[in-house]
Amino acid sequence: MKNEYDYIIVGGGIIGLATAYKLALKCPKKTILILEKEAQLASHQTGNNSGVIHSGIYYTPGSLKAENCINGRNQLISFAKNHNISFEMCGKLIAAFEENEIESGQRVWNILQLRLHQSIIDLKKKVDAAPKDKIFDVDLTYLTSRGNWYYTSWKGDQSKSGGIATNIGVHFYDMLSWIFGEVQENRVHLREKNKAAGYLEFKKARVRWFLSIDEADLPIDIRKNGQRTYRSITVNNEELEFSTGFTELHTDSYREILNGKGFGLKEARQSIEIVHKIRNVELTTNGEKHSLITEK
Ligand SMILES: Cc1cc2nc3c(=O)[nH]c(=O)nc-3n(C[C@H](O)[C@H](O)[C@H](O)COP(=O)(O)OP(=O)(O)OC[C@H]3O[C@@H](n4cnc5c(N)ncnc54)[C@H](O)[C@@H]3O)c2cc1C
Repeated sequence: MKNEYDYIIVGGGIIGLATAYKLALKCPKKTILILEKEAQLASHQTGNNSGVIHSGIYYTPGSLKAENCINGRNQLISFAKNHNISFEMCGKLIAAFEENEIESGQRVWNILQLRLHQSIIDLKKKVDAAPKDKIFDVDLTYLTSRGNWYYTSWKGDQSKSGGIATNIGVHFYDMLSWIFGEVQENRVHLREKNKAAGYLEFKKARVRWFLSIDEADLPIDIRKNGQRTYRSITVNNEELEFSTGFTELHTDSYREILNGKGFGLKEARQSIEIVHKIRNVELTTNGEKHSLITEK
């Protein structure tokens, strides 16, 4: 082994190797030595990362970091193409949470309209005033029949709407977590295209829930009256009066936002995590079930 080199690079990760590569291209006559303490190259961060080809979006537009990142990305892609290394441009979905708000200086407001419904506000006050260790029993049933249009629109496409628990249920899960606190357990008993059911345990409540857009699930008397929606929330077997008071909630939400009192990402987080889990968790037959499930 020679003991004199024009360049010595310590570390055989991507940075050391890319530096050596560029030096070799620029000065083909110079000698370069890479010193690596492990038995093989790239055995630390470089060989264990997530494999994302970054696009510079995290950096201030026009900054040196952003420029450097985009430059590196373009070089990486052309290197891969020139050397027949396969890669995939699968796109990226970015969900803004608080850090991003701080970074951008902008707020992202959410429409969590049930928090503005008077019956819900009253229920929250009641739960807040109850002894700290009190656990409420809640049954949530929301049956709202939808025509064929639902299945042919984006709403019927799970990859676009997230399915009925996300599309139809998310406001209920937000309301429940706002009133009853952190989620302790999230079990799903049924997850079909037109109905879903499960059990949610919050710090202060055990909730059995059932959602459906299937007309056949509507109680007969409701169907006979020509109604297409049945909504019931019972708390310790007491029905929550919840049939009216919805029409202005959107307008009220926007009014609050304009007054600087909207709901930020932090407030929306728990319901998003709940529906994410409902979409992905394995179905179970265990645990407390909604009565419409047990009857099936
Ligand atoms: C969990 C994780 C996920 C990531 N995901 C991505 C991603 O998706 N996309 C992306 O672009 N970047 C990603 N990164 C960042 C990226 O992997 C690193 O920025 C990059 O690999 C750093 O390369 P490096 O050569 O500086 O370090 P390393 O790969 O850690 O290489 C340093 C080398 O130096 C050697 N060394 C240390 N001390 C000595 C010594 N005294 N003598 C000899 N050799 C020594 C080490 O053995 C090692 O091989 C990720 C990083 C992590 C940790």
